[in-house]
Amino acid sequence: MLRSYRSRMTASFIVATVAAFLALGFGWSTEGAVVVLVLVPISVSLGAWAGAAIRGEARILAGAAREVAQGELTTRLDPPGDEMGLAYDEFNRMAARLEGRVAEASQERNRLMAALNSSQDAIVAVDTENNVTFANAAVEGLLDRKPEEMIGNPFVFTMPDPAAIEGLRASRERGEATSHVIERPNRRFLRAIITPIVGGGAWSTLVVFHDLTDVKRVETVRRDFVANVSHELRTPLAAIKSVLETLEGGALEDRDVAVDFLARADAEVERLVQMVEELLELSRIESGEVPLTHDVLDPAAVVELAAGRMRAPAERAGLRIELSSGNGLPRVMGDRASLERAIVNLIENAIKFTPEGGRIDIRTRSDNGGVLIEVADTGVGIEPADLPRVFERFFKADRARRAGGTGLGLALVKHTAEAHGGRVEAESTLGEGSCFRMWLPGR
Ligand code: ADP
Repeated sequence: MLRSYRSRMTASFIVATVAAFLALGFGWSTEGAVVVLVLVPISVSLGAWAGAAIRGEARILAGAAREVAQGELTTRLDPPGDEMGLAYDEFNRMAARLEGRVAEASQERNRLMAALNSSQDAIVAVDTENNVTFANAAVEGLLDRKPEEMIGNPFVFTMPDPAAIEGLRASRERGEATSHVIERPNRRFLRAIITPIVGGGAWSTLVVFHDLTDVKRVETVRRDFVANVSHELRTPLAAIKSVLETLEGGALEDRDVAVDFLARADAEVERLVQMVEELLELSRIESGEVPLTHDVLDPAAVVELAAGRMRAPAERAGLRIELSSGNGLPRVMGDRASLERAIVNLIENAIKFTPEGGRIDIRTRSDNGGVLIEVADTGVGIEPADLPRVFERFFKADRARRAGGTGLGLALVKHTAEAHGGRVEAESTLGEGSCFRMWLPGR
């Protein structure tokens, strides 16, 4: 009863009015004075009581507002039935709207974080002092730092590269994005796109790092490849040119000399043709554009055919070829001509690098669900430092340069094996011999 300030004010007003009427009725007599003396204090205290009720309700409102300010967004008030009830209702509506807005903002933030963290590119935000305020998950792979190690620390701790620091300054000064290529340890290349964010607060600048290592590597491989091809073509072409010049300069008159020179030119042309054919074959296999035909093959038969083709050249070089093959070999799926060419390449090398009187063992056996083809020789062997590189295009050990190969044969063997789902490896002891193995999966 009389809990709200309105009922208390009404009571105070009624008491004051009654006091006034009674005073008038008593014609300001002693009775009137008594009535006034009794009723006016009652009215005043009822007024004060009403004031206390307003203060109480206002305090409740202030307390609730404080809770909302502190983040208790679910705080709501039970409105009293007086005018303060309107204020309580308004408060409740405001709190509900605020709760909705904050929920929307946090949803948006979650979406943004998910997008930033799913990026393959490393994304870092820094403040005006160049301290990191955000780093996405990709920084771990690209910058070798965990996001939590970066956040709160100066950007230079992670990226001491002057190009990056200069980039931050430049893009802030110009107010536009700048792009820089940064070299990191282990020949890693990153493109950094640095963008200032106007009104971004603690995210004053955003730096996006994109991994360029593969692109750079492909560029280098392509450049090296063109340089190598040009170099390798120049040698036989120069030899042919000098033969022609010698013939022109008079050697043509001497038939024996002319025949000898023409034979040399012919050998160089042969080398050129072989190189061009091997290059074409390599690019054919690598591009995968022309599919290798897939026949069911008896691996022993393919090896026998290749060895048969090389028997005469081996004999001419004073070498013996020993062929052996295990029982119950699985069949392999593949391109007969490519596989035969790969095995011929291995035998050719064995002949080329084995001194007269040596031996070449060609073994075929079942291995690990597939077939292992081994070509072992008793030749000069390969330096341990050269061994891991023999399958690279154009690689020739120094001593081998004199043997006049193209340096493409083993690259072709490797690509052929891989195009068939197989692999190759080499083992060698300098001065004792080498063993090349090609493994192909069984059908
Ligand atoms: P090449 O046309 O020079 O023979 P390859 O790619 O077939 O090119 O071989 C690359 C290099 O590997 C050769 O130049 C040689 O140094 C080395 N090599 C290959 N096979 C043998 C082998 N059987 N014995 C010794 N060295 C070999």
